[in-house]
Amino acid sequence: MSKAYVIELGEDGKTRTATWRNPAEVDLMDGNVTVRVHHTTMNYKDALAITGKSPVVRRYPMIPGIDFAGEVTASDDPRFSVGDSVILNGWGVGETHLGGYSPIARISGDWLLHQPKGLSGAECMAIGTAGYTAALCVLRLQDLGIGPDRGKVLVTGASGGVGSFAVSLLAALGYDVVASTGRLEESDYLIKLGATEVIDRREFSEPGRPLGKERFAGAIDAVGGQTLANVLSQIAYGGVVAACGLAQSHDLPTTVMPFILRSVTLAGVDSVKAERSIRERAWALLTERLDRAALVAITQTAQLEAIETIAPMLLDGRIRGRLVFDVS
Ligand code: NDP
Repeated sequence: MSKAYVIELGEDGKTRTATWRNPAEVDLMDGNVTVRVHHTTMNYKDALAITGKSPVVRRYPMIPGIDFAGEVTASDDPRFSVGDSVILNGWGVGETHLGGYSPIARISGDWLLHQPKGLSGAECMAIGTAGYTAALCVLRLQDLGIGPDRGKVLVTGASGGVGSFAVSLLAALGYDVVASTGRLEESDYLIKLGATEVIDRREFSEPGRPLGKERFAGAIDAVGGQTLANVLSQIAYGGVVAACGLAQSHDLPTTVMPFILRSVTLAGVDSVKAERSIRERAWALLTERLDRAALVAITQTAQLEAIETIAPMLLDGRIRGRLVFDVS
């Protein structure tokens, strides 16, 4: 695919149109590094940008794609030389700056990382922001003292991108992982990734008691809403929830009880503006500990031309794991 997917806004300020354009016709915006994009992926946020279901696109024209992997073709940044393999996750790319659904991207070198040794560009995109965010969540649990010895750790939205990687990484680190999903037919997949137990997400869908049974030492939550409220009420004394998502809702109808009576910590995780040192830790964790067989099981490849078909399916929770697009 040698074309860029460009979304434009009509003169009425409302109507969006998307076309495949030659990147030479597009103003690629400011940046001191130019990258030939080889692989990209689709995250929840990309699906929102493509469908327009939520205002994640902050300027037009926009090329979505918050993640990409490729090769430097020009650089005024001393940290990057022509020919270097690089990856990019977040920093507003695909939202406020043109993104990875294009063969060429121009960005700030401050946003780039060298491709981790031991992972290919396609593997980095299979991991993408979803896997990197899962790693940030795992680091958050570790840094706040939740090791495998503390007890079971719950992952919500387990069949999705973040959830699949969270299950796999936690299992590789020796945690006893409980996977919560609305797709019980994916139980074998989740067990293969390393979950010891798969539970129905409906357990968390109705308003519950402010404090429930202490079931989990920690949790990684990609879902938010009533689910997160119920998860918080079921965390054991001194436990931690790393919250990164809102697939169910951005609301949080909880009480202070888990915090003031059980010393539970609700730890927020943002991937977009995470600083370089924490990104490097997350990618090192993924490189060293992510099970490659799990990565293969999580990943599907797809054609970039199909993004408009795929995006609504992803938002409906009908895409299992992660998609990689070859942009070469
Ligand atoms: P996916 O769409 O791949 O996965 C989301 C999963 O959430 C679904 O697969 C489904 O899992 C579950 N889910 C969906 N709808 C509902 C619902 N109504 N109630 C309960 N569960 C639901 O998305 P990602 O994994 O890529 O992202 C997950 C969330 O994390 C998103 O909200 C995304 O915006 C956020 N995110 C945040 C980041 C950050 O920096 N903080 C970075 C990356 C993502 P199942 O079928 O197993 O139940």
